[in-house]
Amino acid sequence: MTEAHCLPRARLQALFDRLGERGFRCIGPQVRDGAIVYDDLSDASALPVGIGTHQAPGRYRLEHYAHARCFAWSNGPQALKPLLFAPEEPLWQVTRGADGRVTFASIERPAQRRAVIGVRACDLAALTLHDAHFLGAAADPGYAARRAELFIVAVDCSHPADTCFCASTGDGPAVTGGADLTLTELDAGFLVRGLTDAGRSLMDALPLLPASSDDLRLAKAEIEHAATSQRRQLPGRNLRDVLFANLDHPRWDDVAERCLACGNCVAVCPTCFCYTEREDAALDGSHSTHLRLWDTCYSAEHSYLHGRLLRANTRTRYRQWLTHKLGGWHDQYGRSGCVGCGRCIAWCPTGIDITAEAAALCKPPAAETDT
Ligand code: SF4
Ligand code: SF4
Repeated sequence: MTEAHCLPRARLQALFDRLGERGFRCIGPQVRDGAIVYDDLSDASALPVGIGTHQAPGRYRLEHYAHARCFAWSNGPQALKPLLFAPEEPLWQVTRGADGRVTFASIERPAQRRAVIGVRACDLAALTLHDAHFLGAAADPGYAARRAELFIVAVDCSHPADTCFCASTGDGPAVTGGADLTLTELDAGFLVRGLTDAGRSLMDALPLLPASSDDLRLAKAEIEHAATSQRRQLPGRNLRDVLFANLDHPRWDDVAERCLACGNCVAVCPTCFCYTEREDAALDGSHSTHLRLWDTCYSAEHSYLHGRLLRANTRTRYRQWLTHKLGGWHDQYGRSGCVGCGRCIAWCPTGIDITAEAAALCKPPAAETDT
């Protein structure tokens, strides 16, 4: 990591301009439909200036403040996931020719150079997990091509939501790696550090000033406060043994009473990667497109195998999600599948809180029944 330098707030547009000159399509946070989402953004003035978020179980609201900061919010519903692992992606097409022969052709879309600005530490941790999956066991060429063209400008998190618990999973709020460039926002501007050769090269092209010792002290204090202000936490980082030893815990019935099996938690989770495949066939039989779509382990169909449903009720589907997320991932990827972003808490319509469920499951059944 390079020594930090300061980018004055009034010069932030230079970051977008230099990335554009290098052929990157810039993607950044912006307010849309009452939430902060990532989409094309080449104008720094379109960042969510003076916007914060209030998040609680089953609740996400934007708040407006009289300050000029543009990254003083915690994550919205999106992570990097949709940019690299599309919600719907055509994989191949089969065509029937005039002679009746069928031809299969893979659908390849050239990957664009994209730069994402504003990525948080929890989502970088999730990206590392997706890399392990899609560049490892799953060996997905589309993901690999998109990943190779991605430039990441991360931002230290200074305003975690009430639902965040990245400090307890060890994934935030400070950015420690996984990005090309990292920013720490202060009132007057941004501390900038290059983490890769590409990031350091971009730094060289920005109108930077030396960072003062006061800037460095303030940045450190803000990040420390962001960590210590988080009130939620998971009960330990490896829950594998305790969860698998409690598959008949009464809490599974309790949570199944509250869970709608809607799959919102899976859709917003930056690490979930279940998918299904579907054939989109033309009615005249001339061609068919094979699609990959996000799926959820909360749906009955996702557990359909050889004529029967393996997980026939919400109790077993919620249990599948949680035991895999907090337990099975340790065997597959060497760590928990939860990076503490808190999205599944805020976007659950009934406010189910993964930290509360995990804590309840760690108690002996009798103690849990008493609470
Ligand atoms: S399980 Fe919930 S808190 Fe953990 S990474 Fe997924 S959405 Fe975030
Ligand atoms: S835990 Fe919440 S978001 Fe997830 S499936 Fe159940 S009701 Fe939906």
